[in-house]
Amino acid sequence: MWSTSHDEAAALLKLNDKDFCEQLTTAFDKKLGEVIQVSQRYHFPLRMRHAKNYVQERIALIGDAAHTIHPLAGQGVNLGLLDAASLVDVMMTALHKRRDFSSLATLRQYERSRKSDNVMMLASVDLLKQLFAQQNALVKNARTAGLSLIDRCSFVKNRLTRYALGNR
Ligand SMILES: Cc1cc2nc3c(=O)[nH]c(=O)nc-3n(C[C@H](O)[C@H](O)[C@H](O)COP(=O)(O)OP(=O)(O)OC[C@H]3O[C@@H](n4cnc5c(N)ncnc54)[C@H](O)[C@@H]3O)c2cc1C
Repeated sequence: MWSTSHDEAAALLKLNDKDFCEQLTTAFDKKLGEVIQVSQRYHFPLRMRHAKNYVQERIALIGDAAHTIHPLAGQGVNLGLLDAASLVDVMMTALHKRRDFSSLATLRQYERSRKSDNVMMLASVDLLKQLFAQQNALVKNARTAGLSLIDRCSFVKNRLTRYALGNR
């Protein structure tokens, strides 16, 4: 996936395969080697969205129906799975207590348990996106220094990895 501005995306789509391969090779700093072949290209806008309410009586939104996140950190599926696990938890607890598992009161527990976590992740990924979009040399240097510091600090790196894997 190549995420870029609308204008650059439009220009990239107009290129023939050979020129596109060259652009891709450069964008990847040749880390993939020479790109020699691409398949059909598609484009669509990426939008961060977050539902104001996840639940109504007998209805619950989970996954991308409740929130869409920029795919740069690969977090969309994790958030959806955490939503699903939380929803199952509150419904099973209600069932065990012989309560209506789809009442608004039960479903609100799911919403409360997931919304703040989702907000945190949406905001963090959006911040990362803004940071990577910056072309200012000072910001770029600070970004590179910050990332290499995190890379060398295993305690911070492990905590971030655990967080991203959903162990929270
Ligand atoms: C380019 C891109 C790259 C991504 N990369 C990653 C990644 O690396 N890691 C990651 O974790 N996440 C990634 N994501 C996000 C991830 O794909 C989504 O978060 C995830 O697929 C959401 O799952 P979902 O089941 O909630 O929704 P979806 O996967 O969108 O599933 C919804 C399903 O409902 C169907 N549907 C819609 N309307 C109806 C209807 N009226 N009746 C019946 N069916 C209907 C749709 O066809 C679809 O199959 C990426 C997203 C994009 C766009």
